[in-house]
Amino acid sequence: MRYLIRRHPQGGRVLRRVLRWAFAVGCYYSGAVMLLNRFFPRHGALIYFGHRVADDFDDWLGGVPPDLFEQQIAWLCRHFRFMSMDELVDHLQQQRPVPDNSLVLTLDDGFADNYTHALPILEKYRVPVTIYLVTDSIDTGELPWPQRLAWVLARTQRETLDLNIPVPQRLTLRTLAERLQALNFIKELRKQLPMRQQLDLFQSVVDQCGVRTPKDRMLNWDQVLEMRRHGVGFGSHTVHHPFMKCLPLEDARWQLEESKRVLEERLGERVRHFCFPHGSYGEAVGRQAQAAGYESYFIPGGLDRTNNHRRSPFQLRRLGLSDDAWPVLPLTTTRWFTDWLRPDRRQNEKD
Ligand SMILES: [Zn+2]
Repeated sequence: MRYLIRRHPQGGRVLRRVLRWAFAVGCYYSGAVMLLNRFFPRHGALIYFGHRVADDFDDWLGGVPPDLFEQQIAWLCRHFRFMSMDELVDHLQQQRPVPDNSLVLTLDDGFADNYTHALPILEKYRVPVTIYLVTDSIDTGELPWPQRLAWVLARTQRETLDLNIPVPQRLTLRTLAERLQALNFIKELRKQLPMRQQLDLFQSVVDQCGVRTPKDRMLNWDQVLEMRRHGVGFGSHTVHHPFMKCLPLEDARWQLEESKRVLEERLGERVRHFCFPHGSYGEAVGRQAQAAGYESYFIPGGLDRTNNHRRSPFQLRRLGLSDDAWPVLPLTTTRWFTDWLRPDRRQNEKD
């Protein structure tokens, strides 16, 4: 029940969550979920994505609590066949049919709880995972910029914020709604700016807010390497987690190439997979990702979430791992729910 009544300042849609949960309970316990999956199997792979696996209930950072995560993984293991991103992309490159009802698990951003909380569960159930890393965050320990801004704006004592880039303006931070508005305003503003100016803007916000940011929330390189020894796969999620399709092409290319270079140097192997932050895919930047040597990435939206051998590895589509109370996740595995009702059609645009 506590998952249902959590406050979600970035969503705030408690009623919708309760209704979805009640609907899922009906579908799950009536056997409808199993019937739908039996009569409408997925001819290919469903790719789930998540971020944090944590029980601190930090609504500004979000995440799936570990006990719910384990319940979901245990159920998925019983009814689906997990494969790694490497395995899926191998199938697609060789145009081999992907086994029915396959699942791929991915986690974005590289939070430390992926090591402390998710890894033991994934090892217990022998589930492969690919984690998309933001290399600057692994280097510095700082949250990726969108979460870092959310962190300081949620906690600052200040009631106003002065932005000087690209033009002087003042934002107010008196209420929760105004703080959310400020966060969204800055996220929009950055789309007009080259990377250097974005970083200057973000740093000035953090400095003004005067709030210390945590440096223990992200994976460090030791943890990354240990996870790699345990079979975890890693892909790139850029250096600074920018909105890629709005960046000048030169900046976008640097994000693609530099993150790949750093990861390959640390891991000692080729990094094949890329993930656009916020689902910020565009055709031009997609071509750049391919030119940089990546072999797969995800694109947002789309009706059919099943990835099979007719799909290019540069057209993969994902589905958000549910942080709703059990049993919402089983409902999301049905084609009827994910492909036709598309409850998460904006999920790919999340951080
Ligand atoms: Zn991200």
